[in-house]
Amino acid sequence: MNCVHHHPRARSLTQALKYSCNPYFYRVLQTVVEQVPDSLAQPADTCAVQRQNLMAWTRHVKSFGLDTLLGVDVPRESPGFIPTAAYYDRRLGPCNWTYGNIYSLSVGQGEINLTGLQTANVLATIANRGYYYTPHFVRAVGSSGAPLPKFREKHRTLVDSVHFAALIPGMVAALGRGGTADLASLTDVGISVAGKTGTVQNDEGDDHATFAGFAPANQPKIVVAVYIEAAGYGGLSAAPCAALIMEKYLRGKIAPKRKRWEGWLRCGNLAEQGH
Ligand SMILES: [Zn+2]
Repeated sequence: MNCVHHHPRARSLTQALKYSCNPYFYRVLQTVVEQVPDSLAQPADTCAVQRQNLMAWTRHVKSFGLDTLLGVDVPRESPGFIPTAAYYDRRLGPCNWTYGNIYSLSVGQGEINLTGLQTANVLATIANRGYYYTPHFVRAVGSSGAPLPKFREKHRTLVDSVHFAALIPGMVAALGRGGTADLASLTDVGISVAGKTGTVQNDEGDDHATFAGFAPANQPKIVVAVYIEAAGYGGLSAAPCAALIMEKYLRGKIAPKRKRWEGWLRCGNLAEQGH
């Protein structure tokens, strides 16, 4: 894929994740939305085909707990939003939209709304290779030693578990040399982190910075999602925040080389400092 960034061409999913290369993901969604089923030998009704394809995409995406209340045991949860074919029919007119109207969905922009909790839950689902438990703060009730039954139920996504492994090399490479989040690497203390940066366009000021990831990459124990408003590029502020939380959780302490980040975070200006 060609793009306007200064990085090697993203020839694979791994490189597209490592360099956070939007055009690669645009093309993936285009393939999904415009594909014509083999069963249609005749020139297809493109409107019906793309409606059906987008509906299938929406079903799969929602199976990750999006566009719904997850059911966390704290009040005031928001459902977020994932647009449907019916939504675009209403907004743009039936059959009056194409891939060109919806391509931003492929990089999590456009009409998509996710809560921070949902972002973390998607990463937990990837870490689990295809399922999640409803997030909960209460670990055990009474003498049972276990959370309520509804928090012990596995929610499986519509994506087969074999497909999740393909994401991991790119999510690890994002924190490797040349990756968008290489600042946040914890390899110096023997921890491999898998994650993805995000830079959220903001019409009213500086971009919002995000990062979500889990560690250790091959045997995940913690997922962290960070969202910092108006902090610019996700790799410079959100990813280091997440790395500090993961390191503290997994090691109980912060390595000397990251002590100054800890200081910046404490005084609330990590975003300004960048690195
Ligand atoms: Zn690129």
